[in-house]
Amino acid sequence: MLNVDEAFEEIISNVSVINESEKTDIFNCCGRILFNDLIAGINIPSQNNSAMDGYAIISDDIVNATPDNPVCLKIIDEIQAGHELNNEKLTNGHAIRIMTGAPIPDGADCVVQFEDTEEIGDMVNIYKKPAKHENIRFAGEDIKKGEIILRRGTRIDSAESGLISSLNIKEFLVYKRPKAGIISTGDELTEPGEEYTGKTINSNAYMLYSEIKKYGGDPCYKGIVSDNYENVKKIFLELMDNDIIISSGGVSMGRYDFIPDVLKDIGIDIKVHKVLMKPGKPVIFGTYGSKLFFGLPGNPVSVMVSFMQFVRPALLKMTGNSKILKPVIKAQIKEDIIKKKGRKNFIRGIFTVENGMPVVHTTGPQGSGILTSMSAANCLIILSEEVEVIKNGEYVDIQLTGHIEI
Ligand code: AMP
Ligand code: MG
Repeated sequence: MLNVDEAFEEIISNVSVINESEKTDIFNCCGRILFNDLIAGINIPSQNNSAMDGYAIISDDIVNATPDNPVCLKIIDEIQAGHELNNEKLTNGHAIRIMTGAPIPDGADCVVQFEDTEEIGDMVNIYKKPAKHENIRFAGEDIKKGEIILRRGTRIDSAESGLISSLNIKEFLVYKRPKAGIISTGDELTEPGEEYTGKTINSNAYMLYSEIKKYGGDPCYKGIVSDNYENVKKIFLELMDNDIIISSGGVSMGRYDFIPDVLKDIGIDIKVHKVLMKPGKPVIFGTYGSKLFFGLPGNPVSVMVSFMQFVRPALLKMTGNSKILKPVIKAQIKEDIIKKKGRKNFIRGIFTVENGMPVVHTTGPQGSGILTSMSAANCLIILSEEVEVIKNGEYVDIQLTGHIEI
């Protein structure tokens, strides 16, 4: 049986990027992955401009300005953001009133903010000597024309969408989303919203649907499949037009757990079956050409944990994302934990900061059917295979489970 790291390597080495693009626009690009390097076609800012509301002046004029001994300059004009002066040049002894974002007039080499001045009629007293170039934003200071601003494989978030639009780009290419087919197996299942009969209500499908959307896939839910060999086979064959196919349940040792046999029967090359982890041990992974098949266990927490460890990075790689690893950070555990040797444990935890230091405690009972533990958690505490006892106060590895991790 493979350990988690070996299974991860095996899975990731079998994933290829879907090297196809589609157009998106700046309203709909959040979460998409950039298909090309983005090269600036313009300078930003486009011209030297003021970083403050104040007076554009010549710094040599006010070298002696102090709060007790202001220098008095004549105001000869005013310039507002979005407007230009008519080739007017600033000369010694003069000042031009200027607003934030307005172009710096020729001749000026700094801006004194209003707070350090006092206007009297058409004159202004300057009480502070600014440094040369103070409060001037230079053309190209943020972005230079020709520079690569964002690399292919970058995930677009709000700041990137701002950056892209600031470069005068409205539409651009992103990687196509992988199509992800989802099924839930189990005779015990019913769908949410149906008349309640005491059956287990399907939660896995909706968690998988949400996770796939969150990480850039295009999910398609095909419904509940009963634990019947032919039915399971039929639905897998119907799902073959997807890039990635994910099932839950039916991978354990029960008499009605048909997924492994069905996958073999339809020609899926099984690369991983069972991993030394808790929860999630029965997980199965295989390929068919470039298509990926994940048979996740049935218990909802096992689904979430095995998705995070294996499906999420595979999906991110498929989408062209250059960052696929969830960072592991250290936090001080605030309770004792005992576990059995042999499997890597992923314990639902709550990460907080106490006195500026990262600390973590568990969410309580850790059964793989206790979905409230996953909802209460904001991290997974990762305990390695060989560990048996963790003492209150030790540092442990954690992975954040919220959105901030990518
Ligand atoms: P299995 O791996 O198929 O033996 O399923 C293990 C347990 O997981 C079942 O007994 C159910 O209680 C639970 N389970 C399976 N599929 C789902 C699902 N789609 N939603 C919620 N719970 C499920
Ligand atoms: Mg089952």
